[in-house]
Amino acid sequence: MLADLPSNQMQKSCNILLEGMVESTTNPTTTLWNTILPMIIQDVEDEELHVGKFSLKTSIVTVSADQPAKRSLFGFKAHQASQSCFFCLSTGTFHKLGGSSKKVNTTEANYFVELSERSEVRSRDGTILDSEQGVNGFGDTPARIVQLIMPYDTPIDMLHNFGEGLCEVIIRELFGRGAPKSGMFHVEIDKLREAINEIVLPSQFSEIENCRNGTDKLAFFRLTLLSVAIRFEILNPHARFAIIAISMLANKMCASGVGPELFDEQLCSAAQWFLQENSNEYLSCKAHVSLKNHY
Ligand SMILES: [Zn+2]
Repeated sequence: MLADLPSNQMQKSCNILLEGMVESTTNPTTTLWNTILPMIIQDVEDEELHVGKFSLKTSIVTVSADQPAKRSLFGFKAHQASQSCFFCLSTGTFHKLGGSSKKVNTTEANYFVELSERSEVRSRDGTILDSEQGVNGFGDTPARIVQLIMPYDTPIDMLHNFGEGLCEVIIRELFGRGAPKSGMFHVEIDKLREAINEIVLPSQFSEIENCRNGTDKLAFFRLTLLSVAIRFEILNPHARFAIIAISMLANKMCASGVGPELFDEQLCSAAQWFLQENSNEYLSCKAHVSLKNHY
């Protein structure tokens, strides 16, 4: 992926270079990634390419992957383990209720940092040492990628953390599928369907209600359910606040606009507070990563 393009260009398949594919019946292990990484580094790192009159220089600057792949690449313990967040050192296991609130600029006079910010407490050398010693969330096999990229210098996987994480949990509760974690998202299903039918979106989004994949689930949540939460009074106010805050965070990441950091922080805090008031179980590792403002 070419990381210096605008984000909507970066994700287009014509701008993604395929280096190789690995076929496997199980999730790849850290050892497998350690074997492959030197080959990728040799091909990509510090390479100069010439295409027509253009010269390109390539370098590995970050890593994007879904959660299981990212964990094995970096040699992290399972996501529910203590200190297994890529961005902070929250000691919570399954429900990570603590952790840092934001990345800080230490030159600002009013900065604050909770002691669990991984990039502050375990800056580069500390993180390499943690990886070698298998402590602070790292597993037994040291990962080679840690010599090159810090785990906290990687983007958050919104598709899995929101689309196939927290948003999916909320969608299931709204539609009465499975046991709810609380009564927060209880709604009369007929009224919900009526409200959804009132929402008109551009035709490219006409199929999203089927929620066939993570992209659909995220779009259904951040567009349709956001509109329902704003327009109709059929949901509990806590649920409306949480849906609006999560959707606005997700929408911001799908757009190119830049707003003040304080706004993101308050959206994260609002969503987290309303969810946590109803049940700590909403704060799974996926929800924690997205709502602790690890951006
Ligand atoms: Zn964290």
